[in-house]
Amino acid sequence: MSATSGEIAENLVRVRERIELAALRTGRRPEEITLIAVSKTQSARKIQELYEAGARHFGENRVQERESKLAHLAGLDATWHMIGHLQKNKTSKAARLFSSIDSVDNLALAEKLDRARGEFNAESANTSLAASEPLLAASGNRLRVLIEIKLDPEPAKSGADADELPRLVEGILRLPNLELGGLMGIPPYVDDPEDARSYFRRLRALRDAMRAQLGAEALPVLSMGMSHDFEIAIEEGATEVRVGTALFGQREGT
Ligand SMILES: *Cc1c(COP(=O)(O)O)cnc(C)c1O
Repeated sequence: MSATSGEIAENLVRVRERIELAALRTGRRPEEITLIAVSKTQSARKIQELYEAGARHFGENRVQERESKLAHLAGLDATWHMIGHLQKNKTSKAARLFSSIDSVDNLALAEKLDRARGEFNAESANTSLAASEPLLAASGNRLRVLIEIKLDPEPAKSGADADELPRLVEGILRLPNLELGGLMGIPPYVDDPEDARSYFRRLRALRDAMRAQLGAEALPVLSMGMSHDFEIAIEEGATEVRVGTALFGQREGT
């Protein structure tokens, strides 16, 4: 069921408690973990409510949906993440509407985002930017990206194959308007979240292997874990969890 007014704030408290406990279980500091509230299909009113309860990171999976809610949420000082598959013809908008693209899975897409963010930064630096155009993303800085790795063997699922990772990392690190944060991954759906653990481990191992080449500070971000498995993901090293249903209740039509 979709959460009602008041329930959303309570859900946030509960999810935060669970994040804290999962972190402490494995000797991690809860502050290391960023909660991204996945607001796809949710109304601007509910997003506003979660914001007022304290949420500051939001995830959307469609550029158009972010755009349609924009006017209603213009006053929020929040960080917006694109977490869904991004079509190449939407890169220009995405580079303006989001602070982070968490689902980059090929170099051509990264190159397009780099160019689009460069253009956006140049336009915003020019004070003649139409006052009617709301400032959509924090401009002037680099667009953060995460590389999405395909953890689910199902062919239709998005993400780059693990063996493409070194080439992707090398390519993205050369792009001046992007900042490579780390990796994102979605395990196959399993009834028992414990069964997702090996997939989270694998994503972390891929990151650690890259660190062996790039240095211990490289790729700090591991975005993994959703409503039904975020605690397992945190135990395996997640620094960002993407949680929708546990905050907002069941999405319409699901
Ligand atoms: C919808 C979605 C989520 C959140 O899923 P819940 O099960 O509702 O927490 C997380 N990540 C991605 C990429 C999504 O599309």
